[in-house]
Amino acid sequence: MAKITRKPLPKSRSAVPQRVSKAKDPAAATPKRAKSARKASSKAAAGSPPARTGKTKPWTEAEVREAFSRFRKANPEPKGELEHLNPYTLLVAVVLSAQATDAGVNKATRALFAVADTPQKMLALGEEKVRDYIKTIGLYRNKARNVIALSEKLIAEFGGEVPRSRAEIESLPGAGRKTANVVLNMAFGEHTMAVDTHVFRVGNRTGLAPGKTPLEVELGLERVIPAEFMLHAHHWLILHGRYTCLARKPRCEVCLINDLCRWPEKTI
Ligand code: SF4
Repeated sequence: MAKITRKPLPKSRSAVPQRVSKAKDPAAATPKRAKSARKASSKAAAGSPPARTGKTKPWTEAEVREAFSRFRKANPEPKGELEHLNPYTLLVAVVLSAQATDAGVNKATRALFAVADTPQKMLALGEEKVRDYIKTIGLYRNKARNVIALSEKLIAEFGGEVPRSRAEIESLPGAGRKTANVVLNMAFGEHTMAVDTHVFRVGNRTGLAPGKTPLEVELGLERVIPAEFMLHAHHWLILHGRYTCLARKPRCEVCLINDLCRWPEKTI
């Protein structure tokens, strides 16, 4: 009797895409399954950490160096896209940028910073007028309150200057770890790594620094990126996430590091 051999089923490349493929047509699935498929799909697009199968090979030191050498060659002096005039206006812009786009913040701050580029001038302007300038930005009432409160604190406790330590920056109203990292890096040239939605996605997708939280990704990136690239690494990764490794449709075909990237779903 002839022996029947079964072709083994292909192994899933990651847990998230597998869950999506089970419900190819969410509209036709049960509401519960459709909801779970939508959730998985949006998690995958956001670059959620891959399932820890232990099969993703970590990047070698040489590969990390190669990736950042390519970023540097393509854009030797990357710049952040938040407009500012000095460390104070940078701090305010970052506080305003929470859950808002840089373009939206810039639109509002151009006029605001023209009249108030120091904590003293911001206080003289007053909360109500600050609110008017930034009312196109989400959560503007709360943010206006924070801008005034942080300006007061800068004057009362730091001589009107933006402090240079993480703990002091994080003690300011509206400022958290990401704000401190951006200000320390851009205003004071420190080798910090601010993890926003783009850096979080790129860190996870590429396998450079997988992590379930922004802090895990931040510490992972700081561990693997050589010091010589750290000053600009934050901007290279943000710009990569914003313009190439897009959340829903990454442009793998034009990606500078597509041969190094570990994402099983990359399209090249
Ligand atoms: S190959 Fe694709 S998924 Fe990987 S980093 Fe590049 S754009 Fe992102």
